[in-house]
Amino acid sequence: LPRLKVAMIGSGAWACASMRMVAENARSRRIFYPKVKMWVFEEEHNGEKLTELINRTHENPKYLPGCHFGDNVEACSDIVSVVQDADILIFCTPHQFVHRLCLQIKSHVKPGCFAISLIKGMRVRTDGPQLISTMIQRTLMVDCSVLMGANIANQIGPGSLCEATIASKNVEHARLLKLLFHTEYFYIDIISDVEGAEMSGTLKNVVALAAGFADGSGYLDNCKAVILREGLKEMRELSIRLYPSVRESTFFEACGVADLIATCSGGRNHKVAMEFAKRGGSDSFDTLEAELLHGQKLQGTLTSHEVQSCLKIKGWEADFPLLKVVDLIVNGVYEPADIARFRDLNLFPI
Ligand code: NAD
Ligand code: 13P
Repeated sequence: LPRLKVAMIGSGAWACASMRMVAENARSRRIFYPKVKMWVFEEEHNGEKLTELINRTHENPKYLPGCHFGDNVEACSDIVSVVQDADILIFCTPHQFVHRLCLQIKSHVKPGCFAISLIKGMRVRTDGPQLISTMIQRTLMVDCSVLMGANIANQIGPGSLCEATIASKNVEHARLLKLLFHTEYFYIDIISDVEGAEMSGTLKNVVALAAGFADGSGYLDNCKAVILREGLKEMRELSIRLYPSVRESTFFEACGVADLIATCSGGRNHKVAMEFAKRGGSDSFDTLEAELLHGQKLQGTLTSHEVQSCLKIKGWEADFPLLKVVDLIVNGVYEPADIARFRDLNLFPI
């Protein structure tokens, strides 16, 4: 049987951390072609092109220094040549860039290939939200699964335990994807609830902003527990209203409460929101993103805006007070410390 060729679209922190597992499995499992291609958004780092640096050092020193993939990864800035002979496409870019990339490759993907999205975020169209996996599926006409979990990129590697959920509608694709990602330090469980897993991974980025506002404002553990509980409740409620097939049990998987807990303490959304609160809202999120994340992208503020657009289209804004107050704080209407008053604030100030 021909070996399956794998392509990674993305080269940020999570793309690099997950590439380590993928490259390891491509080297060791005969079902996969050992060389894995990685599309890189070309930049200069310390006077050298990122693609050349990655191919010379087998790591990405800008986005995840110290994470070696091994020498079977080939970085390339031409996305068409990365995807055109791949049997499995892994999407892992910040969500705001992926639609444009899909349009670029749509007439170049190999017939019969399938995809998996590691992206946390959503699109909003005039008729409502669209999951990123749905967009990939419809644009490229390929099946698309998702991988979501408590997966803070710079904490993953041999010697530390981590787990993730693969959600797929296709049993055979799920089996192959587990072979591609599962390692002894990265456990994979499989479920079929794609919508629940992806909505949970997306919405927890907004709840992480709430947790960061609370921590940065000096509130203690009891307050943070209120925010996590209400956040999880609103995540579940919105997911089920939008996609009635979503299962309660999905929120108890790695992609649910586990990701919420990890992101609300060690994630970038929490970090930036906490600093925003500590500085009393004096610096914009763009300034803080550049200062604290060094090129990595904050997803929660964009997602907050997208969630509110979706709630507005549906007429549900008042039913999700925590999500609404986060957005009002992001937009400078309320102070970060007001997060603790999410039940009492006027959700529609003039
Ligand atoms: P990142 O935030 O670390 O890096 C940003 C990436 O965007 C870089 O590779 C950069 O080159 C690229 N980029 C910048 N401008 C671009 C453009 N115009 N077009 C295309 N690419 C451009 O990226 P990441 O952490 O790999 O995040 C990708 C996805 O993974 C996100 O949806 C994120 O929510 C999700 N995720 C991240 C983590 C994590 O710990 N970092 C964990 C789980 C999931
Ligand atoms: P941040 O983008 O907040 O770092 O979250 C990372 C993540 O999704 C961990 O699973």
